[in-house]
Amino acid sequence: MPRPFELDPLFRALSVLPGVGPRNAALLEKLCSGPKVLDLLFHRPADFIDRSYAPTVSESENSRIATMALRIDKHAPGAHRSKPYRVHCTDESGAITLVFFHANKGWVEKQLPVGEMRIVSGKVEYYQGNPQIVHPDFIVKPDEKDLIEKTEPIYPLTQGITNKAIRKAIKAGLEFVSPLPEWQDAEFIKRQKWEPFDKAVAALHHPERPQDLEALAPARARLAYDEMLANQLTMALVRQSHRKVGGRAFNGDGRLRAKIIAALPFKLTGAQERSLAEIDEDMKEPLKMLRLLQGDVGSGKTIVAALAMAAAVETGAQAAIMAPTEILARQHYESLQPLLDAAGLNAVILTGRDKGKMREAILMQILSGEADIIIGTHAIFQDGVNYKDLGLAVIDEQHRFGVHQRLQLSSKGKGTDVLVMTATPIPRTLTLTAYGDMDVSRLDEKPPGRKPIDTRLITIQKLEDMIDGLRRQIETGARIYWVCPLVEESEVMDLAAAEERYDVLQQFFGERVGLVHGRMKGPEKDAVMGKFAGGELDILVATTVIEVGVNVPEATIMVIEHAERFGLSQLHQLRGRVGRGGTKSYCFLLYSGPLGESAKARLSMMRDTEDGFLIAEKDLELRGAGDVLGVKQSGLPKFRLADLAEHAALIATARDDAKLIMDKDPALKTKRGAALKTLLYLFERDQAIQYLQSG
Ligand code: ADP
Ligand code: MG
Repeated sequence: MPRPFELDPLFRALSVLPGVGPRNAALLEKLCSGPKVLDLLFHRPADFIDRSYAPTVSESENSRIATMALRIDKHAPGAHRSKPYRVHCTDESGAITLVFFHANKGWVEKQLPVGEMRIVSGKVEYYQGNPQIVHPDFIVKPDEKDLIEKTEPIYPLTQGITNKAIRKAIKAGLEFVSPLPEWQDAEFIKRQKWEPFDKAVAALHHPERPQDLEALAPARARLAYDEMLANQLTMALVRQSHRKVGGRAFNGDGRLRAKIIAALPFKLTGAQERSLAEIDEDMKEPLKMLRLLQGDVGSGKTIVAALAMAAAVETGAQAAIMAPTEILARQHYESLQPLLDAAGLNAVILTGRDKGKMREAILMQILSGEADIIIGTHAIFQDGVNYKDLGLAVIDEQHRFGVHQRLQLSSKGKGTDVLVMTATPIPRTLTLTAYGDMDVSRLDEKPPGRKPIDTRLITIQKLEDMIDGLRRQIETGARIYWVCPLVEESEVMDLAAAEERYDVLQQFFGERVGLVHGRMKGPEKDAVMGKFAGGELDILVATTVIEVGVNVPEATIMVIEHAERFGLSQLHQLRGRVGRGGTKSYCFLLYSGPLGESAKARLSMMRDTEDGFLIAEKDLELRGAGDVLGVKQSGLPKFRLADLAEHAALIATARDDAKLIMDKDPALKTKRGAALKTLLYLFERDQAIQYLQSG
């Protein structure tokens, strides 16, 4: 189904708007994150100026923005261009002066011809007892007074674009909005007292009271809900198509799993047992599993994955586990090997580094089914890698994976079940938006015997004292991660900072300091990590590359420099790298003061709790959704109007609404269904439409 024609005007290029030439169009496109009229219309005012105050000159109050009808009496140019140019005006109540600095005489004369009336709007200021307006915001002829809006919305701007230009473009853009079929439930919007879409868009750009700018103002809330419903409906459609098509029941007999459990030196935690039961439940159904296993670093996800994979292999299928980096893939391979051996399972590892004959041999094992378990990076799902029978795909530490990649992946096998594992504790509202197509299991209990991590805030001025302390710790065998600050997302700058710190630490600790960063090649990086893991290095200086999952149980100290620049969730992830063995661990959060209130609040929170879910909720509140998951991670849809923190309650409603729609009208065939298709197009979720069941 092509896009409904009613939407065409909204999808036209910005350059169709008056006053928007190629240069402005490019600036606006960047500012509004999109090239079309609709993107501009979703650009919300951040504030407004009230120009409704229309006193007479003598009544006008100091420092207030006033709009007045004035007669122009006399021009008094400055004696020199650097002197102010004054224009004396009156109304029936008194006199007022308009003042211009560095004025162009010709322009002022043209704007304010002597003897004529003009409507002037600007801030009145009293100077030596006389009212004046310096550089009025508006000067228009009496018959053009509608050009001065009673409330003038103020938009977030970018260099080269004035508020007037944006306002003009938006006013023109609003003409492109016509009534659309209502996609929301009639009862629901009545209860919410929401207006139709077209009215809501117009209202968004006509704030009259401060509360009109709030996230829960009716116009904004309605549009945010539209956006969230489009998101939830997309998820529901994907989920529906994913689960129903060609799912398979895996009924393992438990023999391999029993062997692995027998080989474990510990008992599973309650949360591990529960999550595993949920996974088993899914695998036994003749539907495709799409489940998210959420658990803090160290909560024991890997073993859950191993036991799930064993169940798939018991039925004769293969299982694969994909890690985001080479290092992690190898670490999985090493930590899984003994367990898989215990069950007599044959595991292979495949990464982008494997080439030539080696790679051919591994590919053969995968194709022939000789390999039961395939461990690797993205490489394991690339073209040219063919499985005999892939039953379960596990994706570790991945929220960089969008909905569509998740689907693609399962196309590697017939009815492949998918288990996504993430170590980022995600607030509930975010789970719904980023993973609404998935079922969720949570590992919210740590394996026993973990000691709390002693977290301390230290000012960078105390750096030398701290280094002395570290020296003593190293003498008792401690190993230290030292994370260098994130500088404006620039890898080059990160690197410079890390290298500098590396040099300094080498002066103190000599050759027992190593450096890893994102620009190093795989083998090079692995070599340094390997030395650290093997105890040849005491200190590992790193940019945030270690953020993802590396396991060195002997590391007990985490130093994070410029901790105030990191988000809470990121700090939590980093801190989770220590405290993995039985020894007491420390996390030193180095900051350079003075800290602002919010930075103080963030760092104190880190000191006071280790509860990842709590930290994540707080992070969402403080920084917004994109940052919680990491800016570059595409798993999270971009919202224009919805704010995941402010509209949290509405997200849950949208989810329930989408579910109900799927139950009642899975092919979107009713009248509301057809309107909902328009909604999907409106928010460019039209890929979702391809998942509508045909027929
Ligand atoms: P995650 O992948 O969630 O970060 P891992 O699976 O790597 O965590 O587990 C972290 C450590 O905890 C590993 O050394 C693992 O052997 C250990 N572990 C896992 N489950 C348990 C348990 N139930 N009891 C004790 N130790 C456990
Ligand atoms: Mg892990």
